[in-house]
Amino acid sequence: MSDGLPACPECHEAFTYEQGALLVCPMCGHEWSKDTAETTPETALIKDAVGNVLADGDIVTIVKDLKVKGAGGGVVKVGTKVRGIRLIGDGVGDHDIDATVPGFGRLQLKSGVVKKVL
Ligand SMILES: [Zn+2]
Repeated sequence: MSDGLPACPECHEAFTYEQGALLVCPMCGHEWSKDTAETTPETALIKDAVGNVLADGDIVTIVKDLKVKGAGGGVVKVGTKVRGIRLIGDGVGDHDIDATVPGFGRLQLKSGVVKKVL
């Protein structure tokens, strides 16, 4: 199958075809909706520097010095603890975390520069 349709959840045959909003299996007649067939979310998981999956509200530490651009400037030091991060899908560049960093206020961070506090 080159069109990426999932195999039938009932009989596991791979002859699925689309009929409107439904997926249909010609082998056993099972019909199901495309929405529930998509088990993997489209947004990829956001992981920290060592591969821990991050979630809203996590506490992280910064793993490398970060130069802060813009008003004031400065450097967020390695080991700075940041509480209550928020994951964002639309950050500037590849920034995917929104967080309030002590001494700096609200910043956008890249997930690759933080490590989750477990
Ligand atoms: Zn089937």
